[in-house]
Formats: sequence, structure tokens, C-alpha cells
Amino acid sequence: MNSRSLLILSSSILCFSLAARAEIKPIIAHNQDDGGGSFQFKEVPAPARNDAASKVKFTLVDGEKDRNGGDLSKLTDGRVPNEDDQPSQNFFFAAGVDGGRLAGDLGSVIDIKQINTFSRHGGTRAPQVYKLYASDGTQADFNAAPKKGTDPASCGWRLLANIDSRPKEGAMGGQYGVSISDQAGIVGKYRYLLFDIFRTENADGFGNTFFSEIDVIDASAPVVAESNPAPAPINLKSADGKYLFVFDTSLSPDLTEWAEKELGPVVQEWYPKIVEMFPSEGFTPPSRVYFGFREDMGGTPASAGGNRVNINIPWFRQNLKGEGKGAVVHELVHVVQQYGAARRTTANPTRTPGWIVEGIPDYVRWFLYEPQTRGAELNRRNIAQARYDASYRVTGNFLDWVTGKYDKELTKKLNVAAREGRYTDEIWKELTSKSVQELAEEWKKANEERLAAREAAKQ
Ligand SMILES: [Zn+2]
Repeated sequence: MNSRSLLILSSSILCFSLAARAEIKPIIAHNQDDGGGSFQFKEVPAPARNDAASKVKFTLVDGEKDRNGGDLSKLTDGRVPNEDDQPSQNFFFAAGVDGGRLAGDLGSVIDIKQINTFSRHGGTRAPQVYKLYASDGTQADFNAAPKKGTDPASCGWRLLANIDSRPKEGAMGGQYGVSISDQAGIVGKYRYLLFDIFRTENADGFGNTFFSEIDVIDASAPVVAESNPAPAPINLKSADGKYLFVFDTSLSPDLTEWAEKELGPVVQEWYPKIVEMFPSEGFTPPSRVYFGFREDMGGTPASAGGNRVNINIPWFRQNLKGEGKGAVVHELVHVVQQYGAARRTTANPTRTPGWIVEGIPDYVRWFLYEPQTRGAELNRRNIAQARYDASYRVTGNFLDWVTGKYDKELTKKLNVAAREGRYTDEIWKELTSKSVQELAEEWKKANEERLAAREAAKQ
């Protein structure tokens, strides 16, 4: 082939691709949430259940999944979140990184009629920013998994659409539907899709979109079924109406009744109590607490971050009657602590040691919420190893003892110092006129004496 014919060939490919591309018209729909409705758009079809994408498993080509989110199967399960902050019902990239890449394999080349992408969040994680590439995979240099930094167009992919659904003005939050179709008929004959996804903002670490669903409509497939929203979460309010508690058991419907009838009342009673126990100037606790029942927590029974409490489904199934509720009370204290706030409110905040961060919640749990279980007592088996800074229930025991002996408001004052980023061990001297080491010695001695007295009484 001489260079002249090569030139003609390549320019004709170029013309063809420009022409094909010119027909593809993405439609962007945005519903700002009004509390009701679920992904119903005038311009974009509703999320589908039996679309071609439900047969494809997306894979992560580049970037990292956020641990708080659902896995990639969330994109094709035909279910969409039914509120603004349901991380487990969405896939999103980890905090702090600029998106990533997802590839989907449809199994064989199909006539793609439409590609629809859906997302939902209350803030900047709602809109979608991505480039969509497609390929039939036949090109000799086809790379099925090009990382960021490699232009997909250089390895067998065609750019189908460049999507940016961020509104020019007004709030970003709500539900988005993006529909990529070709007015001329089909988008094309493709087997592979590549989503090159970008964050919507970098003002903080949380700019990665909550992707709820990706639908690929096969031109030859029967008409698509209705969308199937995830089961509605349970919303409970505190007695005074000030706090809203949202229990998302969509991954574990068998725990819904327990969440509503057993856990709910404990939260309704204890969250306001804990808020009252730990006030500080200018501090407002989260008014909405979200309880996500999750399957991806490994050996951790429960955890908390911001206004979220994460509940480990398999662990809770085993502990509905035992430690389940107490574990959640512990996490509620974390939701109220908000020691991270010190970074925003205080110049050069001190770092509160972990044993205080974990000791206060276990003090509340074992000595105020469920003292009858005596779950944090010192006994002959554990007293030799007991250290005031052993964290969790041993520190809880120490805090209870110092509270009883020296200062009824001890934990309240420790909490203020920690939340304001000015905790140091000096505070023990200020509050009790003893150093923390002196207090610890007294505490151990008092417990030794208590145990000895009890043993003597038994003899
Ligand atoms: Zn904890």
C-alpha cells in the first residue's frame, strides 16, 4: 500500500467516525429531590431490570472502589437507591481519588440501542462526568483494560460520548439519568464498553459520583421491565422530633423487623441522651443518623463515621439477643463525639488518644446503658493485665471509677477537650489533682481490695 492510499483510507475512516459520532446525542435529565419519586424522568427511560447490562459483569480497570459503597454488581442489579444517601446501593470510587475506569463485556457483539446511566446523591456526588468508549474488540491492538493515562482511542476503542451532567447553576444534588442513543437507530455494534469516570469536584475528598445503575439496551431484546427500587428504609424520629434515624436493611430483609422493633427504640431513647451527656459550646450533633446494614465488614461487628453507623449483617444475625444493641449504643457515642471537627474549629488541635476515643463509648455502653450485664467488670482473670489505657471496656471501667470517686462530670469534660482538640494528659490533674498514672494505681488497688473482700466474704 502506498502512502497516498493510506492517507485516503485513514481520512475515510475519520469521516465515517465523525459522521457516526455526530448522530449520538446524550440526553441528560436531573430531578432535584422532592422527597418522592424514584428515577422517573420525562426525557430518559426509567432504570431497567432485564437489559443487556444485567448479563454483563463490570470490572474495575483503574481506580479503587470506596469501602462504604456497594460492589460493581450494584450497577446491573436493576435496583436503584430510594434516597439521597444510600452508599450501599451505589458504586463509587474511593474518597480523594479522581474517578477511575470501568469496563463491561456484553459477552458478544450486540446492536446497542441505548446506554443509560443513573446516579443519586444529596450533593456534589450526584452528577455524572465521564467519557464512554465502545469496541467490538476485533482490532489487532485492542486493549480490553487500558488504565488512565492510556488513551482508549489508541487501542481499539471509539469515543461514543463525553458526558458532564453538572448543572450550570443551582444545586447539584438529586437524581440524574443520562441516556446515550443515536437518532439514526442504533448506537452501534459493540461488545465492550469502557467508562472513563471523573470526579465532579475536588474541593474536598468526596467528589466521586454515586452511580446507581447502568443499563445497556439491546436493540433486538424485548421491551424492558420496570425498575425495582430497593426496599424503603425505616425512618424513625426521636420523641422530640429533632432527630431522624434511617435504618437501611435492604441487604438483609430478615433484620428489618428487629431493626424497627428492637434496635429502633434503643436508638430513639439513647441518641438524644448521649447528645445531652456530651454538649460543648457551638456544637450541633448530626440531626440525621443513617444505619447501614452491610455484608462487607469482615470481622468488625459495627463501626461509625460521620453520621453513619455500619452494621455487620452476619455478626448481628448471631447477636440479636446478646451484644447487638449495646454495640450500636457504642457507635452512637462515636456519632456524637465528632472529634474530627477539631481540625476545622481549632488551630493546631491535639490528637485525642485512641483509648479515650474508644473508652468513652464503652463507658456509656457498659456502665450507663447496660450496667446489669456487668460486661466491663474487673475480675481475677483480667485484673493483672488491666491498664487504664487498654481502651474499650477496660478504659470504660477506669472512667467509671474516676467518675464515681472524683468528678461526676469527668467524661463530659474529657469529651469537650477532645472535641475542641485540646486534650492532653494534663487534664486529669486539672480535674482530679492527680496524674492519670496515680489515678490508675489507685483504681487497680481499689479493685484488688474489692476482689479480696469479696473472696474473704465467700470463705
Ligand atoms: Zn468504637
